[in-house]
Amino acid sequence: MKFTDFNLKETIQAAVTEAGFTEPSPVQKDAIPLVLEGHDIIAQAQTGTGKTAAFGLPMMSMMKADGSVEGLVIVPTRELAMQVSDELFRFGKLSGLKTATVYGGTAYKQQIDRIKQASIVVATPGRLQDLLMSGRIKINPQWVVLDEADEMLDMGFLDEIKNIFTFLPQERQTLMFSATMPNAIRKLAEQILKTPKTVAITKSESTNSKITQLYYVVQDKERDDALVRLIDYKNPNKCIIFCRMKKEVDRLVAHMTAQGFKVSGLHGDMEQKQREVTIRAFKQGGIDIFIATDVAARGLDVNDVTHVFNYHIPFDSESYVHRIGRTGRGGKSGEAITLVSPNELRTIKRIEKDVGAKLITQVIPTRIEVQNNRADALIKKIAETRVTESAINLVKTLQHDLDIVTIAHLLASLVQEEDFVKGKDNIGLGLEEVELLIERAMQNRGGGGGRNRGGYRGGNRNRNSSGRNNRNRNGGGRDSRNGGRGSNRG
Ligand code: ADP
Ligand code: MG
Repeated sequence: MKFTDFNLKETIQAAVTEAGFTEPSPVQKDAIPLVLEGHDIIAQAQTGTGKTAAFGLPMMSMMKADGSVEGLVIVPTRELAMQVSDELFRFGKLSGLKTATVYGGTAYKQQIDRIKQASIVVATPGRLQDLLMSGRIKINPQWVVLDEADEMLDMGFLDEIKNIFTFLPQERQTLMFSATMPNAIRKLAEQILKTPKTVAITKSESTNSKITQLYYVVQDKERDDALVRLIDYKNPNKCIIFCRMKKEVDRLVAHMTAQGFKVSGLHGDMEQKQREVTIRAFKQGGIDIFIATDVAARGLDVNDVTHVFNYHIPFDSESYVHRIGRTGRGGKSGEAITLVSPNELRTIKRIEKDVGAKLITQVIPTRIEVQNNRADALIKKIAETRVTESAINLVKTLQHDLDIVTIAHLLASLVQEEDFVKGKDNIGLGLEEVELLIERAMQNRGGGGGRNRGGYRGGNRNRNSSGRNNRNRNGGGRDSRNGGRGSNRG
């Protein structure tokens, strides 16, 4: 199934294409057609499953863009309000649909001005109720979304929500999303939804304990660098990199090839024959790295895959389990490595709960650490190498002009130069920073007051903070920070 199957309005479809989405996530597959048909829905779907597009795309596809507020999205926290708003803005910008973000702790005036120009308002319950009750704003949205409803109830927003609905028109389409369906949610649903259709995305089995599950927190734009660095460091025998989009597969194939890796892409557009040829090459070792979408990798059975990388965290836990199960086969051990942005930490926590395993967070190795690793490997290799006749002659010749230590230095430099580690020294977030973000993402996230968005965006990353010292390898001694040669990879 493709996005184009939904028959979304042209400008919306164009924005989806621009965003690179090709295959809808499970909740999108189920919800989008129902919303387009005009049904109220109650959807059980967890964080990280693509809910924003599930309600945003069909709703926006039906909007008139007449300058009035046509859609209202209520979310539990200020962070979510900003995230949802950003995503909706992206989808709506070609259709002339503006969004306004409304939450507590900031001045009213600017928010009210923005609401006056917006087609969609994304709001936390407290501030929204405040604006409605004081008469500062009047809106008549035809679409109303309750996102992460269970969380809003957990945070004690039930009264606010009920009150908000007294200000909303009776003639409306209401969409309710919730990770869990406790009684309080069902009761609320009875009050605000009209003959709703139900969407439920089910959970999965648990994971193989022979697979070590790691995750690394990086900013979105660092994903490529992080991937290359981790592959340099882990030195996998064979690995599979999972992407969400075909476009991403193609781009990564080009990127990794340019970095000198033996890679091949695998996605749904490839013909069966070509697919088989590629898979055979992977099995036989002609290709070390497979870059694939979920669909393409279904049923893929290759032994000796030591590592699975999730370039993006998958939508559902089922897919996560399926992906990482490509390693650790036949009783061998394997590693599953997931790259996540700070926004996706909640998804990690949800997957941990679903699959019943703890994912371990680590810091991406520095360039120096990888370099040290390679030096260790080289030392080992040198110790195991047998001296040849021609090498003895070569050294004899060199000794005419150079002393033996200089010769050794030159030869070692020559060997090392071949695989000098490139790229930035530090990639991704440090441990302390990640711990802080997890804590913030997990605590009852305070109804939108006071917390600073900057932390989530990771603007200020002092990599020499103590977080760095928690690494299991202390590169301090050798870390000269002016490695000189290679810094042109990023
Ligand atoms: P949720 O609200 O369920 O937590 P989001 O709507 O925030 O999830 O989506 C999570 C991430 O997945 C976002 O970065 C979003 O851009 C991306 N995404 C959503 N749908 C798709 C899709 N069909 N293909 C690729 N990426 C998607
Ligand atoms: Mg969401």
